[in-house]
Amino acid sequence: ELVDVNALLLSRIRDVPDYPEPGVLFKDITPLLADPAAFTALTGALADLSVRHGATKVVGLEARGFILGAPVALRADLGFIPVRKAGKLPGATLSQRYDLEYGSAEIEVHAEDLKPDDRVMVIDDVLATGGTAEASLRLIRRAGAQVAGVAVLMELGFLNGRERLIPALDGAPLEAL
Ligand code: AMP
Repeated sequence: ELVDVNALLLSRIRDVPDYPEPGVLFKDITPLLADPAAFTALTGALADLSVRHGATKVVGLEARGFILGAPVALRADLGFIPVRKAGKLPGATLSQRYDLEYGSAEIEVHAEDLKPDDRVMVIDDVLATGGTAEASLRLIRRAGAQVAGVAVLMELGFLNGRERLIPALDGAPLEAL
């Protein structure tokens, strides 16, 4: 059953060479989203992980973390909180800058959405360098909330994102389906 689910998910991920730039093998999940059996299996597995790790809120990382995180939150009966690229949220925000290969990026969250008694599960499709997930964990901790974990469909192991996340996770799990 578990093997079947993993095989189904894997079969619905499209590898696109040299996108968005030469040398990058892009993991395209749109075939998975278009298949209701695969989409249901994925969001169910991520919801189970969220419940198992005691999450009280689901954070989705813009943009594919929104597509996955919202149904995960509903299936786990939890609230959904978007972490957005800078300048998109209208309320009072906390923001976190992080380094990219060239330059930097900034993400934000509505400060009032994260409470000290919240345990937050961070959802995204792909963990690559881990920079985005690491910045989101910093936002959660700066808001005073707790980290339940990070759960992704895929981890690109050769980019060592898992190692990068260790300090920010501080013992919380990183789950990659
Ligand atoms: P990261 O380097 O872990 O901060 O990745 C940043 C974002 O880029 C993640 O939210 C991923 O969705 C996306 N991403 C990075 N590398 C890939 C890839 N090879 N295929 C698909 N998405 C990617």
